[in-house]
Amino acid sequence: METIDIVGDQVASALHDLRNGMPGKVAVPGDAAYNRAREIWNSAVEARPAIFTLCETNQDVQTVVQVARKHGVPLSVRCGGHDFAGRALRHNGIVIDLTRMRHVTVEPAQRVAVVGGGATSKDVALATVPHGLVATTGNVGAVGMGGLTLGGGYSPMSAQFGMLSDNLLEATVVLADSTVVTANASENPDLFWALRGGGGNFGVVTSMSFRLHPVRELLAGVLLFPWGEAEQVLRGYASLSTALPEEMGVTSGVIPAPNGDPTVFIAPNWQGERKEGERMIGKLRNLGTPIVDQVSWMTYDVMLDRFDAAVVNGHHYHASTRWFPSLTPKVIAASIAGIDQATSPLSLIGWHHFRGAPTRVAPDATAFGLRKQHFMMDIVAVWKPAPRKEGDVHRKWVRDFSESLAPFAFPGGYPNMLSPEDRSQIPFSYGDNAPRLLALKKRYDPDGIFSSANSLPEEADSRT
Ligand SMILES: Cc1cc2nc3c(=O)[nH]c(=O)nc-3n(C[C@H](O)[C@H](O)[C@H](O)COP(=O)(O)OP(=O)(O)OC[C@H]3O[C@@H](n4cnc5c(N)ncnc54)[C@H](O)[C@@H]3O)c2cc1C
Repeated sequence: METIDIVGDQVASALHDLRNGMPGKVAVPGDAAYNRAREIWNSAVEARPAIFTLCETNQDVQTVVQVARKHGVPLSVRCGGHDFAGRALRHNGIVIDLTRMRHVTVEPAQRVAVVGGGATSKDVALATVPHGLVATTGNVGAVGMGGLTLGGGYSPMSAQFGMLSDNLLEATVVLADSTVVTANASENPDLFWALRGGGGNFGVVTSMSFRLHPVRELLAGVLLFPWGEAEQVLRGYASLSTALPEEMGVTSGVIPAPNGDPTVFIAPNWQGERKEGERMIGKLRNLGTPIVDQVSWMTYDVMLDRFDAAVVNGHHYHASTRWFPSLTPKVIAASIAGIDQATSPLSLIGWHHFRGAPTRVAPDATAFGLRKQHFMMDIVAVWKPAPRKEGDVHRKWVRDFSESLAPFAFPGGYPNMLSPEDRSQIPFSYGDNAPRLLALKKRYDPDGIFSSANSLPEEADSRT
């Protein structure tokens, strides 16, 4: 990818206007703030934005949208910076960086949290836990609430409380014409529908209100099983998974053990009666011979640290995703074979089980595309920073692994984990909601100002 500093009349004019419109909140190559803002989870992303705008208010975001439109400079939006495809960084463009908008205000009596558009999962958990409340968040503290919620959002507590987007009550949005609107069930309901699964395609969300749930402590953590027991443990888990109560969430998969060997992880979280929780965790322990057992009672914010060592910022990553109706023996066998062929010992896979509360939401109630029970699988190649060419072998591993699983999967995939190159999956990733989403995209963003967001079906082929 071409690297640039500030070039071009359009960018120079935009920079001039931005420095006047939001003094002290603009960073360009060479500024320390630029380097900090450009750091995202996946350091393999080479995009070099021309300008970062460090937004603090709705008005800042409005200014950036107006300036970008006036000078025809492309935009992107950054929240937690965890999108593996790097959609937060617009090459040669302007980034609306929301990381200064991370406030979280809790209204305990109403069980509502008002969350800034740049907040992370951990920001929200740290604010709600002291009130004995939790929001549905991602599994890892650093993941942004913005990208998660707009793409749908699988949470450790989804079976009981729904996806992140199912818990969104209201959003404040700066639209493509730079107006600020509220979207909720009664105000701009079409926009509210599209925001819950349609990604960042419809505007910049500067604030979100979430429903909270009373949860004091969870019996949670990670069980690691030796690779030699992979098939037995995964088959056992697949069979247990169909009858787990909704108070129990389980994320599972394969991560490297400290000695570098792959290990199967089963990461449960139980929220309910204590003795019953111990009994249910016992069933998971008995799936094999755990080599690590870190399951204990903890608060939700502490639980969010459990995968930190496996998904550090700054490594090089590439990913793919598949949706499976269930974890059949064929899926398990193909997954074990895929890991056996891994090109890097740091690579991992994960399965998020979608069941319970989110399956009871009508398929057309929000833009999210798959309301049937399923397992969402992430395939993530992880390697130490290296020149681009050296990463190709790991990218190929992801593609081949994902292809080997395609015969057992639904045709689409989780939009947040699909890159613009995943053209065979994108057309199916919004299910029957795609036509309505595309119509709303034309209405709310007719000029494609927010085109760096998750790919919508029709747009996939024209994306650069
Ligand atoms: C370590 C890790 C753990 C993960 N765990 C989960 C998980 O448990 N559940 C799950 O569902 N997914 C998970 N994901 C995937 C996650 O959903 C996506 O990576 C998501 O894009 C992250 O959101 P972000 O705000 O951090 O992304 P960013 O990279 O900051 O943003 C990505 C894009 O989202 C849009 N966007 C973000 N915020 C806004 C906003 N406020 N307004 C408008 N548009 C916005 C923009 O288009 C932006 O370019 C995980 C990813 C990683 C790397």
